[in-house]
Amino acid sequence: MSVRLILVGPPGAGKGTQAELLCESLGIPAISTGAIFRAHAQAGDELGQLAESYTSRGELVPDEVTNKMVAVRLAEPDAAGGFLLDGYPRNLSQVAELDSMLGESGNQIDAVLCLVADDDEVVQRLLGRAAEQGRVDDTETVIRHRIELYHAQTEPLVSLYRERGILVEVNGMGSIESVAQNLVSELKAFLTK
Ligand code: ADP
Repeated sequence: MSVRLILVGPPGAGKGTQAELLCESLGIPAISTGAIFRAHAQAGDELGQLAESYTSRGELVPDEVTNKMVAVRLAEPDAAGGFLLDGYPRNLSQVAELDSMLGESGNQIDAVLCLVADDDEVVQRLLGRAAEQGRVDDTETVIRHRIELYHAQTEPLVSLYRERGILVEVNGMGSIESVAQNLVSELKAFLTK
């Protein structure tokens, strides 16, 4: 299916997992800015070192860096027939940048999927993941800061996409399978409306 999607939701809402599942069923690439930053950090290259100096503190990587990285990724051939952005845009200035990137290619976002989850639940999940995966940004202080930033910087974009009439809210609090099913069915219902 040729569809251009954004997946948004607080840290720990399960975006990465759901992005993979949904993209597999739709046959489009999942483009996760957080995962791209982590891959560069693992490789120890310049972008990775720069990104990690922000991600390890739970701060956003500067917009110029993130926007450029996304523009390059969206220009790759596999993204021509649709994609799902996970973790981007994350503030209003990134929304404006994405609008102009898409405008240049005559495309637009079809739907913005928002995983709704409450703060206490996501903190518990992230602390659990910290024990398993050892991500540098999964300490309690950094987690709380990432959630604060989500409310302050990312939530305004949820309202904006709601005003644009392309927001699809999905409860992110069930099991992986039930959330995945809800995402697919609510997306299909929205797209065929
Ligand atoms: P989570 O949503 O659980 O915080 P992500 O993997 O989406 O995890 O992001 C991890 C970190 O990568 C963020 O805390 C931030 O530092 C950085 N990052 C990811 N996407 C962006 C973005 N669009 N703009 C700026 N920084 C970003």
